[in-house]
Amino acid sequence: MKLICVGRNYTEHIEELDNERPKDPILFLKPDTSILLKKNPFFIPEFSNDVHHEVEVLVKIKKIGKHIQQKFAHKYYDEIGLGIDFTARDLQQQLKEKGHPWEKAKGFDGAAVIGNFLPKTTFTNVDDINFRLEKNGKVVQKGNTNLMLWKIDALIEYISKYFTLKIGDIIFTGTPAGVGKVDANDVLTGYIEDTESFSIKVK
Ligand code: ZN
Repeated sequence: MKLICVGRNYTEHIEELDNERPKDPILFLKPDTSILLKKNPFFIPEFSNDVHHEVEVLVKIKKIGKHIQQKFAHKYYDEIGLGIDFTARDLQQQLKEKGHPWEKAKGFDGAAVIGNFLPKTTFTNVDDINFRLEKNGKVVQKGNTNLMLWKIDALIEYISKYFTLKIGDIIFTGTPAGVGKVDANDVLTGYIEDTESFSIKVK
């Protein structure tokens, strides 16, 4: 399986990092080895002094597809989840400056937190889901899927032009504003609406 991640999908996050608003979705992949195993803590890697949390809504693909039209995209997923796209921001900055790929900063071991999924039917509208991340009990990021520049079905259409989507693939749909550094002993807890999706310890 693969993890397909979307960059710069929320205006306020684009502004906080002083990035340009993209004309098309920015895509990158994380390898399956980046998935943080359930119940494991997240270890800050030795090559970074500035690992950021990026809380993101996840979409789990349930059917193989290529060139999926937006109007049919809803048939390709039944579950919505929440996760963290951990990013070694210092390393990413160096790579960006050189025009190099981001993978080392985004795809390292443990860099993908995948929380519990909920059936899509839990929500009246997948384009109106509230979610938040708490760090040590304080809200640090909150968003709603209605703020996405490209909504879930539009992302599926765009992604499937380039990558065949397979059963079990997971889309990380981008992070809202409020990204920030994590430190040892932090506890990060993610909620979709008011349901806890994950809680992890940083070491
Ligand atoms: Zn991200």
